[in-house]
Amino acid sequence: MKSQVVLLECSEYDKEKIYNELKWGIESFGGVQNFVRADEKVLLKPNLLRKADKDSAIVTHPYVVEAVARIFKESGCQDIKYGDSVGIGDMDKIARQCGLFDEMEALGIPMADFNECVKTEYPQGKMARQFHMAKAVIESDALINISKMKTHQLERMTGAVKNMYGCIQGLHKAKGHTKYSNAESFARMLADLNRFARPRLYIMDAITAMEGNGPASGTPVSMGIMLISTDPVALDSVCCSLMHLNPKMVPTNVQGEKMGLGVWQEDSIEVLTRKGLISVREVREKYGKKDYQVNRGKEVKALWRRIRWVSRHFQRKPYIVDKDCIRCGICVEACPVEGKALRLNRPAAPVYDYKKCIACFCCQEMCPQKAIHVK
Ligand code: SF4
Ligand code: SF4
Repeated sequence: MKSQVVLLECSEYDKEKIYNELKWGIESFGGVQNFVRADEKVLLKPNLLRKADKDSAIVTHPYVVEAVARIFKESGCQDIKYGDSVGIGDMDKIARQCGLFDEMEALGIPMADFNECVKTEYPQGKMARQFHMAKAVIESDALINISKMKTHQLERMTGAVKNMYGCIQGLHKAKGHTKYSNAESFARMLADLNRFARPRLYIMDAITAMEGNGPASGTPVSMGIMLISTDPVALDSVCCSLMHLNPKMVPTNVQGEKMGLGVWQEDSIEVLTRKGLISVREVREKYGKKDYQVNRGKEVKALWRRIRWVSRHFQRKPYIVDKDCIRCGICVEACPVEGKALRLNRPAAPVYDYKKCIACFCCQEMCPQKAIHVK
């Protein structure tokens, strides 16, 4: 049987239009009751990477989260919360700045506590057998993953599978980057995390996506789409088609399929629209953006990666554009490497030690000035 992805057209952030489209999309999967019982604890997990305006394409748009919350509430769910383990800063402040807090407050939906950590064992894990989860995730019965379509420096794109990394509690996210320090091992850990936390439904906000220097320093681009699926790999694969990026180049797709999380191959996926079923090829042709700014370069082969000299010279590296840097030091704070792979150098910009750098790009993700690029 093929994995199904629902594709919803929505050209702008119009609250009622988003609500109506998502309602139709969820109903086409059998409705909320097919995923959640009314007495279960529901946790909505958007992407709240860092402080950002709702239209910056850095965070899941609050109107999408609001619509999902409203649909679940109207279906009788009584215990709904929302939250994310943010990169740097405070979830409360981030939710207030992007407008999510007000939207949820109007619905009477509280924020979950993502500060407390629960160490959990996962003996079935193929890559990761232990996770430091946010307590809110462990305490919930039904997780609803609400991701944002963006580019990503390590995995090329971030969507349904990667959004689950925000279920890992605070500081442990940084540690995970040192433990799973290349795109493949990180992708395998993410596949295990998805298999462990088992979201009931994956929804993607791609009304405005991010291209270029994502996931926080790129450029917003209008795609006019939302996607829904129970298969996160299939959803991300369709997202790749929108980007005109070969889904085989995305480690979370390839590793996700190998590990039984879902399927990425086009002929294993069918896409349902309001006008009926279409193929992934038709999605690419009708809704895709040929010149979407995303890394389509070939990966350095594993054998070469093992040769350290070659690795050091050909590995993609972050660098700082001096004129854009305000010397805030957030990038240094974000670096997960012991002893730090970049150091403060005030009054000049921070300086990298590329011998220590594991190319996780946390510094690039967290820079509030879009001053860090990757070459
Ligand atoms: S986070 Fe960005 S702006 Fe702040 S010091 Fe680092 S490079 Fe400069
Ligand atoms: S310098 Fe940046 S890319 Fe390198 S390890 Fe530190 S955070 Fe990761």
